[in-house]
Amino acid sequence: MSKNRLIFLGPPGAGKGTQAKILAEHLNIPHISTGEILRKAKQEGTPVGLQAKAYMDRGDLVPDSVLQALVRERLQQNDAQTQGWILDGFPRTLGQANFLETLLPEIKQTCDLAINITVADEILVGRLAKRAELEGRSDDTEEVIRNRLIVYSQETAPLIDFYQKSSSTPLVTVDGDRVLEVITAELKELTT
Ligand code: AMP
Repeated sequence: MSKNRLIFLGPPGAGKGTQAKILAEHLNIPHISTGEILRKAKQEGTPVGLQAKAYMDRGDLVPDSVLQALVRERLQQNDAQTQGWILDGFPRTLGQANFLETLLPEIKQTCDLAINITVADEILVGRLAKRAELEGRSDDTEEVIRNRLIVYSQETAPLIDFYQKSSSTPLVTVDGDRVLEVITAELKELTT
C-alpha cells in the first residue's frame, strides 16, 4: 500500500513546496502547507493572520501555539482523515514535533514517513533570491532570507536527529540539488 501520511522537512528553498504539491497530486492526498495557510490568513486579515504577520515578515517562526491549533484542526478535516496528507513546513520546532507525536494517536492517525530534502546553503540563497523576484514574497528580501536560514539551522535542523532517534516515524534524506523530475521520481518510488 502506498504511504499517504507524510512529513516534508528541509530548509527554505530546498524545493519542499514544489515537490510536495506534485507528490500530493500523484498520491491524491491533500497538500497541507502551513506557510501557505498562514500567508492566506495574513492576506485575509484573520486573527491568526494578524498574529502571524510580524513573525513572517521578519522570517521568524510563528509561535508553536498558533501552529498547533491550526494543524490540529486541519488534520481532523474529512479529506485528511480519509485520504491522508503531506505536511509541508510542519513540524518546524521540537515542540511542534512532540506535539504531533501526541496528536496523531489522539486522532487515530499515524505518520508513514518523514522526508528530508537537502540542499547546500550557498545554493539556497541563490534560489531564494530568484524566488523573491518571481513571486514578490515579502519574506524573501536578502536580510529576511538570511534570518530564515539561521532560524532553520537553529530550530528546525534538530528535527532530523529527532526523527532518527526519538520517533517511530522513519526518516529518509533526498538530495534536492538535482533536476526536478529526478527528485519527483525518487519521491514517488519512496512512497509507493
Ligand atoms: P514557508 O512557506 O513554509 O517557508 O513558511 C513561511 C513562513 O510562515 C515561515 O517563515 C514562518 O514565519 C511561517 N511558518 C510556516 N510554517 C511554520 C511552522 N511550522 N512554525 C512556525 N512558523 C511557520
